[in-house]
Amino acid sequence: MAAAVQQKTLRTPSELVDANLVSGNRLPALAAVAARYAVAITPAMADLIDAADPNDPIARQFVPDARELEQQPEESADPIGDDRFSPVEGVVHRYPDRVLLKIINACAVYCRFCFRREMVGPGRGGLSASALAAAFDYIRGDPEIWEVILSGGDPLVLSARRLKAVMARLSAIAHVKVLRVHTRVPVVAPERISAALLRALRTREKATFLVLHINHPRELTAKARAACARLIDAGIPVLSQSVLLRGVNDDAETLGALMRALVECRIKPYYLHHADLAPGTAHLRTTIDEGQALMRALRGRYSGLCQPTYVLDIPGGYGKSPIGPNYLGEDGAIVEDFQGRAHRYPPRHP
Ligand SMILES: *Cc1c(COP(=O)(O)O)cnc(C)c1O
Ligand code: SF4
Repeated sequence: MAAAVQQKTLRTPSELVDANLVSGNRLPALAAVAARYAVAITPAMADLIDAADPNDPIARQFVPDARELEQQPEESADPIGDDRFSPVEGVVHRYPDRVLLKIINACAVYCRFCFRREMVGPGRGGLSASALAAAFDYIRGDPEIWEVILSGGDPLVLSARRLKAVMARLSAIAHVKVLRVHTRVPVVAPERISAALLRALRTREKATFLVLHINHPRELTAKARAACARLIDAGIPVLSQSVLLRGVNDDAETLGALMRALVECRIKPYYLHHADLAPGTAHLRTTIDEGQALMRALRGRYSGLCQPTYVLDIPGGYGKSPIGPNYLGEDGAIVEDFQGRAHRYPPRHP
């Protein structure tokens, strides 16, 4: 049975039951999960869930699951080592030329596989005025910082007015040339991409890029496509990042369809993330071997525009490394083509 059209974000297991997204007998198990990890499903995403399908890929991303309370020894509350690289509250400075600025710890939806799941939740709010001032001072004080990445949480849950103030203060820093926004909002709450929000994001002085988090082709609804078109038409290039998730997008057809749908919307696939070792997410992770096989399948069948870079964020804070398949033999003399045939390089003279 399809869920009724939701008007507001669902935030508790009993609201999920009332919306017919989960059956009532799951309530106690899901309440235990919700006590530990935040839950939110926006109307746009609730409408996409086919509750009759036990393997629905949208439900798998947002509806809590009892397995989230099973933590593996290799899983960690800080799976990519952000804490070690946080010089002031809200800033993560891992690479010399760019910083993450986590301006808010709330999101429009709470993804069950979130790598910051121990940090994000409703009511966690944004950085205080004094913390924000300290973050701006830090960025202003390091001329090597060329790019600032607004992250969170999801920066686009802030009001247009607050976002505009942040963008203006970053734009005033001469050595910062690029502002990047990491967000899921154009897909999960497309109505938020308003004229006022576009005005807030666009700055005259700096290049603004937006990186959209999206994992399944069904997320690109007509409203999501229109929201992305508004951003791109306003002069904001949009790239995508996806998390490789078991039972959501871990087959070549789904992944290929996602990448094609994005390119058709003028969105360039940027990263495919190997799922991080966040607590209670083992049921959603694939192996790296599976990820490499999927990347080979993409390379074999789809346009170069449809190829993201498959990356792993190395636990401990060592940063992202590409982990896609290798086409060059170890001796450097054999290169494999997209159909798996081996060729000598340079070719032998006849
Ligand atoms: C992922 C990440 C970035 C962005 O990396 P790119 O490869 O430039 O997309 C920057 N800083 C931190 C701390 C990150 O985790
Ligand atoms: S939107 Fe991003 S930060 Fe928020 S829960 Fe999902 S993955 Fe985590």
